Amino acid sequence: MKPVDEHLADILGAIRELPPLELALPESYGGVLVEPVTAPVDLPPFDNSAMDGYAVLAADVAAATETSPVTLSVVGDIAAGDQGAYGIATGLCARIMTGAPLPGGADAIVPVEWTDGGTAKVTIRRSAAPGHYIRRAGEDVTAGQTVLPAGTRLGPAQIGMLAAVGRARALVRPRPRVAVLSTGSELVEPGRPVGPGQIWDSNSFALTAAVTEAGGVGFRQGTVGDDPRQVLATIEDQLAYADLIITSGGVSMGARDVVKEVLSGVGTMRFEKVAMRPGKPQGFGLLDDRVPVFTLPGNPVSAYVSFQVFVRPALRALQGLPPAPPRTVRARLTAPITSPAGLRHYLRAAVSLDEGEYTVTPAGAQGSHQVFALASSNALIVVPEDVTERAAGDPVDVLELS
Ligand code: AMP
Ligand code: MG
Repeated sequence: MKPVDEHLADILGAIRELPPLELALPESYGGVLVEPVTAPVDLPPFDNSAMDGYAVLAADVAAATETSPVTLSVVGDIAAGDQGAYGIATGLCARIMTGAPLPGGADAIVPVEWTDGGTAKVTIRRSAAPGHYIRRAGEDVTAGQTVLPAGTRLGPAQIGMLAAVGRARALVRPRPRVAVLSTGSELVEPGRPVGPGQIWDSNSFALTAAVTEAGGVGFRQGTVGDDPRQVLATIEDQLAYADLIITSGGVSMGARDVVKEVLSGVGTMRFEKVAMRPGKPQGFGLLDDRVPVFTLPGNPVSAYVSFQVFVRPALRALQGLPPAPPRTVRARLTAPITSPAGLRHYLRAAVSLDEGEYTVTPAGAQGSHQVFALASSNALIVVPEDVTERAAGDPVDVLELS
């Protein structure tokens, strides 16, 4: 059997990064920048007020107190978007709004809460030091500064950053488009009645959601029965748009393992036994020299674990990101576990952080068909190939699922 790490290395060795695309900001979410972004101007671009209040000379209000307030003449209003027509001299001030440019001569902002709010004359009850509530040009970002390095995945704050420096578009490796297909003649669409021998398809839903969670765009293609021509035709149809294809079912040793049957010898597809539990039967290869195809086993837990171990890193690699597995923590077992020699074992489990220490409790049901235990878990205990048992209290590695 092939070691897990070797299978993953083969997968990552075959994956080429997606070509960069120039996307408008609203479409760029989840994309990974292929070049650094620099600021063409300072941010803020000009000195401006951080508060609604009055732009003053700090020296004029230095003596202002509750019992001995200072009164100044208001020369006018400056709103955000105004172009700073006023100049302030001693004895004068301007009413100013947040984000409005600081008028010439002024060197402090008195917030409106410290005043009587006057419009012709204003009475000020507290002093403000020079620079008070002024946002200086360039104090956030200076012109020429790199604001986002290459390799940044664009989330909401990063997209906001691009817009704030005037960018309407970004050059990114986009979120991979992933076709997800369930195979099996027993499968019925949820919402429809199941007959004898039938079950509802769950893999295509779980895997499409897993794609979204991993930063891809999933296209659920539903189910196809165990008919060789239909399976092959449906997979080939996905090549028109997909950056990656995931199938489930039909890859083990049964007489109707149709995925394996129709894809063997196609492209670079190889079907192998990987030394892991769950998820032993795995198929991977490129179709059309370009599109990675993962044929995952049909048992729902096997398919899901295989996704986390193999597909998730591949999705990251497509975007040029380090192909890291989900976050791993060290946790202390609350119960003993056993594990087969020679296989890497992924046990469904519940991890929690108690008083600064992670503890992990393995689920009672570890069958690869037992979706309830999976849905009740938030982690996978990873038991190395050479470990056959661990006692309660022993530390183990745990992959955190969201
Ligand atoms: P297979 O890998 O096709 O031999 O399927 C292994 C087991 O997983 C069988 O019990 C199937 O009925 C079940 N299975 C396969 N595909 C799905 C699916 N999409 N949803 C739920 N169970 C499935
Ligand atoms: Mg099947």
